[in-house]
This record gives sequence, structure tokens and C-alpha cells, in this order.
Amino acid sequence: MSTNSLFQTYNRADLSFETGEGVWLVGSDGRRYLDMGAGIAVTSLGHAHPHLVAALQDAAAKVWHTSNLYRIPEQERLAARLSEATFADRVFFANSGAEANEAAIKTARRYQYVNGAPERTRIVTVEGAFHGRTLGTLAAGGTPKYLEGFGEPLAGFDQVPFGDVEALSRVVGPQTAAIMVEPVQGEAGVRTLDRQALADMRRVADDNGALLIFDEVQTGVGRLGTLFAYQAVGVVPDVLTSAKGLGGGFPIGACLATERAAAGMTPGTHGTTFGGNRLAAAVGNAVLDVVLGDGFLEEVRRKGAFLMQALGAVVDTHPDVYASVRGEGLMVGVVCTMPVAKVVTAAREAGLLVIPAGDNVARLLPPLVASEDELREAADRLDAAARELEATQADAAVA
Ligand code: PLP
Repeated sequence: MSTNSLFQTYNRADLSFETGEGVWLVGSDGRRYLDMGAGIAVTSLGHAHPHLVAALQDAAAKVWHTSNLYRIPEQERLAARLSEATFADRVFFANSGAEANEAAIKTARRYQYVNGAPERTRIVTVEGAFHGRTLGTLAAGGTPKYLEGFGEPLAGFDQVPFGDVEALSRVVGPQTAAIMVEPVQGEAGVRTLDRQALADMRRVADDNGALLIFDEVQTGVGRLGTLFAYQAVGVVPDVLTSAKGLGGGFPIGACLATERAAAGMTPGTHGTTFGGNRLAAAVGNAVLDVVLGDGFLEEVRRKGAFLMQALGAVVDTHPDVYASVRGEGLMVGVVCTMPVAKVVTAAREAGLLVIPAGDNVARLLPPLVASEDELREAADRLDAAARELEATQADAAVA
């Protein structure tokens, strides 16, 4: 087998996996890997979680798919539970983070349209943002490298520097439909916008008749120790997007909104064949069963602090490899001194999967069910990877 028949859009590691259990994956090379990437923050409950497997098997033996032309009880239940647990009154289900964000952008523009302000179409985003790879979400993210070669970026997006409230106040105006922001930028390298910056965004949005959209595709579903990040910072958006961890590995995305914000999304304005189908919604409900269970989110917070401390000690010991550690809950970035690609490879050789991000950061996004011992083991393996890199560097210096 080879990758020849695939679009060559990924630089894949020459490794696949045969089985998985919890935080562990067994590679095609027969080795056991400690998975601190969780498929980029997706397998929120680890691999082959018994409750998720049972939910999917049970759903698969009934009806797989009926489309959104009919009522879907699992989807209604998931929407009701997400609304109950958050600020939202309404939920639209999609298949991915990018599609959830497309729904959010359309929701904001329609809100303005039905409220007599059709000229308010612009969405203000933050430099370094990542909102997805559709043409709309690429324009929202504004990263030149991702836009190159795809023609004119979709119109209607303005960007402000990270955390710059003055620039935000200047840019948001009579044509702004919404401000859209990740509370913690994941792909940019785990960059946290502080409570004040998010509160400023809320205020500027309110002062200017704009909506506030939080992209919680990566931060959501327990990753920061609250169901969604906004609940930790206490700044409430009008629209919020979720995906990744919501399906624990089964594709699903969601756009949550207040009734007011969703007012323009009337029949026929948006749709999807697959979004929120029975299998996806059944798994989403099973994920919530666990994440909203007694004490689960407190544990995530406790383990997040533990991981941060364990990594801090490793980082301090290897200044030629690692510079610092940052993040919240179980969304952690190790800023590297060495090129992050080398660190990711050395970690993999030490049996540890981590994810590269912007700012030369190695991300740890472990399954939320990781135990303290497993998190300690991750820190130990990052330590081993650094020792290997230092030894190689020393050898090179002697040669
Ligand atoms: N938004 C954020 C914050 C993300 O981190 C990502 C993916 O990394 C996306 C949107 C896009 O999600 P998807 O790849 O499911 O379309």
C-alpha cells in the first residue's frame, strides 16, 4: 500500500495504527504510542471508550441516516442538552468545525439582514486565527500561506492584531456583522486571549450592534475544564461553534446560538445532508453523558494543572530544546527552542504523539480521560525526546 493514489495534501508520518485503547495506540510497527494529540483534540474520551462504542453499535443496528427532511430524535436530544448546559437556545448541526463556522458566519449575517441592517456583512477576526479550510473560513483566518493560489479570498473579513482592543474599536463599525474569535488559538500555538480581551470584545460588539462568535471547535467539550471555554472566562457569546471533541472521533459539528441571534435562520436559509445524522448525534450524546458526569470537568482542571507542572520541570531541564510551556486545562503548548518538526519526530521515536502548531509549539491535547500516571509518562517521554535531541546535537558538534 502507498499514499500514491491520494491527493498529496498532507506530509504524513509513515505510520498507521492498528488498535487503540484509552490514551494508547498500537502502531503498524508493533509499538505502543502514548497519544497526546487525540487526533488533534478529537478523541476526547480516548480510543475505544466502551460507552461510545456501545452507543455507536446500538445506533448502527437501527437507522443510520434519514436526512434532515425528518425529525431526528437523537439530534433533538443533543441540541436540548447543549442548550441546557450553555447560553444557547438553538443548535444547528454540521459535520466539521469549518462547516460549523460557516453556519455561524451565515447566522450573523442573516441576523443583521432580518434586523434591517443588510449592509452589516463584515466579520472581524483576530490575526493568527484558524477557522477552517473552506473558502469562507480561510478568508476568516486570513493566513496568506493557506489562501495562496486559490484566487480572490472571499470578501467581508477584517483582521485585528491579537489582543489589540484599540484596533478592534477602530475596525468594528456600521458594516460589522460580528466579531469572531477563538478564546485560545490552537493552530497558532496555544495562544490564550485573556478574560479582559474577551470582555473588551463583548463590549465593542454590544456598543456597535455586532454579534460575538466564539469558535470553540478546539477549546470546547471539556478541554479547558469547563464544557466550553466561555464558561471559565465568564464572557458569554451570542454564537458558539463546536466540533472535534463533540463526537469523540465521529464527525460532527455544531453551531449554538441564542434565539435572538438565530432569528434569521428560517426554513431554507441553510442545510446539510449529513449534519447531525443519527449516528453522529448518538455518539455526541454519549460523549456528553461522560463529560457532564459528576466531577469529570473538575478532574480535567486538576489534571491540566498537574500536566502543566510536570512539563514545566521538563522544559526547565532542557533549555536547548524547550523554551516554555503555556495553555489551559488539557490544551497545552510547549514552545520549542529547536525546530518543532524535530521535536515531534523525536517524541514519536520515544513513543509519544504530539501535534505541531504555529509559533514553534508542540501541542499536547490528551484525551480528557488520561490518568495522572499517563500524563506523567508523557512528560517523561518528552524528557527522553529532549535527551535524544541533545545527544544528536552534541554528536554533530564533535563531528
Ligand atoms: N476552528 C478551530 C479553532 C480549529 O482548531 C479547527 C481545526 O483545527 C477548525 C475550526 C476547523 O475544523 P475542521 O477541521 O473540523 O473543519
